[in-house]
Amino acid sequence: MATAHSELGGILHLVGVAPAINTLLRSALEPEVTVEAMGSQDRLYHHFQEGHQPADTVLLGMDIEDPVRIAQRIHTYDHHVPILILTAPSRCDQLKRTLMFSPFLGNEVVPWSTAEVDELPSAIRDAVNRRRQRMRYLNTISRAQIRLEKLPLLQPEATYYLDQLLDHAPIGVLTVDLNCAILTINRQAQTILSVSERSALGRPLEEQFPLREQGRLAALLQHGLKGMERHKPEIFEVDAPAGAVRFLEVTPAPLAYRTGQRGAMLILQDVTDRVAAECERQRAEDDLRYHATVLRSFHEISSDRELSLEEKLHRLLKLGCEQFGLPNAILSRIDGQCFQILDSVSDHPAYVVGTSKDLDQTYCSATVFTNEPVAFEHAGITEWRHHPSYLEHRMEAYIGVRIVVDGGLYGTLCFSSPAPRYSSFSSADLEVLKLMSQWVGNELQRERAEAHMRKLSGALEQAADSVMITDRDRRIEYVNPAFERLTGYAKADVIGHKTYFLRSGMHDEVFYQDLWQVVGNGGVYRGVLVNRKKDGSIFHEQKTISPLKDMQGRITHFISTGHDISDRVKAEALDRQHKAELAHVGRLSVLGEMTSGLAHELNQPLCAITTYAQTCLRIIQSGNCKPDDVRYGLEQVVKQAELGGAIFRRLRNFARKGDLRQQRIDLREVILEVASFVRADVQQNQVQLHLDIRRQLPAVMADPIQIEQVLLNLVRNSMDALSDTDEGRRQITIKAVRHERHSVKVCISDSGCGCPQEVADRLFEPFFTTKATGLGIGLGISQSIIDAHGGRLWLEEGAVQGATFCFVLPGSGESRHEKHPTIR
Ligand code: ADP
Repeated sequence: MATAHSELGGILHLVGVAPAINTLLRSALEPEVTVEAMGSQDRLYHHFQEGHQPADTVLLGMDIEDPVRIAQRIHTYDHHVPILILTAPSRCDQLKRTLMFSPFLGNEVVPWSTAEVDELPSAIRDAVNRRRQRMRYLNTISRAQIRLEKLPLLQPEATYYLDQLLDHAPIGVLTVDLNCAILTINRQAQTILSVSERSALGRPLEEQFPLREQGRLAALLQHGLKGMERHKPEIFEVDAPAGAVRFLEVTPAPLAYRTGQRGAMLILQDVTDRVAAECERQRAEDDLRYHATVLRSFHEISSDRELSLEEKLHRLLKLGCEQFGLPNAILSRIDGQCFQILDSVSDHPAYVVGTSKDLDQTYCSATVFTNEPVAFEHAGITEWRHHPSYLEHRMEAYIGVRIVVDGGLYGTLCFSSPAPRYSSFSSADLEVLKLMSQWVGNELQRERAEAHMRKLSGALEQAADSVMITDRDRRIEYVNPAFERLTGYAKADVIGHKTYFLRSGMHDEVFYQDLWQVVGNGGVYRGVLVNRKKDGSIFHEQKTISPLKDMQGRITHFISTGHDISDRVKAEALDRQHKAELAHVGRLSVLGEMTSGLAHELNQPLCAITTYAQTCLRIIQSGNCKPDDVRYGLEQVVKQAELGGAIFRRLRNFARKGDLRQQRIDLREVILEVASFVRADVQQNQVQLHLDIRRQLPAVMADPIQIEQVLLNLVRNSMDALSDTDEGRRQITIKAVRHERHSVKVCISDSGCGCPQEVADRLFEPFFTTKATGLGIGLGISQSIIDAHGGRLWLEEGAVQGATFCFVLPGSGESRHEKHPTIR
């Protein structure tokens, strides 16, 4: 191609082109094409304005802004100069579209991707050659026109020369006389009009055009024949083979010969591609306008706050009827095979709202499988004529699409008409319908979500438990009426505030840190919080705090529910107090029972003191007083007095009143203490007390006095049970062993009368006793003490002789059943 036209030469002007491309073009094109860099577009404009030799092609580089505007300006100087615009590959398509919608027509302005820069020299060469060729033909034609005027009409050489020239022109050229009969027709014009020279010459030009265009052509010719200046071109539609049409641009120019004869010259160009591009552009513009109109209507409907959802949907159906030009519209709900009409716009009796039918009896049965609309314009002439719906209702035109809500099929939106639709549904129609169904789907989904939310928020509002929702920073976003009632704070007081104002000061900072660590890590906190009401009073709240997470599993909020358990806490405290009092009474009663033994125990040091004191007196009175003898006597007095004092201290401790005071204790010590307590009693009653205490028992958390009380109760009961046993066989054993890993098990066995089943069944009942002077509270108190320590007390079953009572106490390292918050 390049070599074929290399003799033509030409000028390429570069504006804003990178030096590398400049160099590339020079080496590829010169000397054939002179490459001139213009620096800036202003220099190029100046070049044109000054009337210098015009460029044959202009290349606009990447360094300039708004190349389309610059190209437009260049075309105001020279409408035919080809312009190539260099662009990044990613922007190339966009630029093509911009050019398509710009006033440029044809191929004069072309975007060129930098990815194809290797092809650029060849493209420029072609553009330059085309331009040069075009210029040459135009010059030739205008020169021929001048010569024709100068030469005598029909001078044979001139005619021959002109014919030869025109025959090779790439544009159609023909001349007509005043009657519009064809005088000359070049080869290109013959091709364009699909006519031979022989059949065309002398015939009216109109004959070559279809009837529908002949009037317009005649008018143009008349104008061309009469006017003295060139007329602007007009486009005509001519028939092409196989029912196609082509578009011809006809530019008339008057011809006036020296002879005074007048005629016209016509330049014909096949602009079918250009017109097709223009039509496509027009269609795209119409589609855009159509979309914009429908969107505006959508917007008007959806944003109308006065309308309910039902009213909005009804308006949408009407809008669809108008848009598609179909009289019937249906919004359906599909449940399995049941097709139910939720709303409709129609006079047809079958389309009344509420009507249900089998889905297979409707055209919509075909639309439910895909998100794409189903549409046909004339069912009667297609396979649709066999569809049950056609046979029943004879709807010729139909367009429908499914509606999806929450990811599942909800129903359909469809429009139909008993009359065929003579223009086919456009892709814009299908897009609009899809848009409508998405809109309906979204609206229904939102309505569903709102209804769900209404239900939820109603439940929260009605809930008896207090509910509080905070954001991640623990700022309150919502509280329910139960919260207001419980705390005394109104919603308006607390929204936006952090929750600190509820703190009572009863929990330490570590407590709150532990709590928020649990929920902050996605866990659920359950526990009792001591909080403060607006009036300053304290209340106990059984709380559950859970994190709320978004779809990605990130914590966005915390929700806490709670109820006031202050009454329960008070009742429990009262219960504890009653139990402590009862235990106290129990201890006093045990002491009462032990009076004679204790008296005996105390009597011994008192007697010893009396004896030692009397001996000392006697030594002093004898006159032979040795100080060492007296000192020994007095030392014994002190020792016995201390023994007595220890007995009193133990009694006082045991009899003291008080709440549970747990501490880490060694059960061995407690058992030894109890053994010395009962020593006198045991001796008096001639009972043998055995201790079997294993080494290295785990320490337990317990109140030593209360455990002493339990042991004393059990030992005293054993002694009572031994009263009828022969003196030599009265035995009590206290055994303590490690139980499981960290607990301690203590068993008190006796060789007494044992417990018959009817007694064993009622042992722990309050006031149950088989003794004449018994109170029947000892075992009950003992059991509640062991329970309060997290342990268990029971009568061992199947004892061969006597009775064995056991209890287990958890080791100090074991966790308790329920973890209570630390209360300061
Ligand atoms: P109390 O000793 O005042 O009767 P307890 O609650 O201590 O009250 O004992 C309730 C009953 O359990 C006793 O009356 C007795 O019948 C029975 N019991 C308790 N310990 C023994 C035991 N080691 N052997 C036989 N029976 C016992």
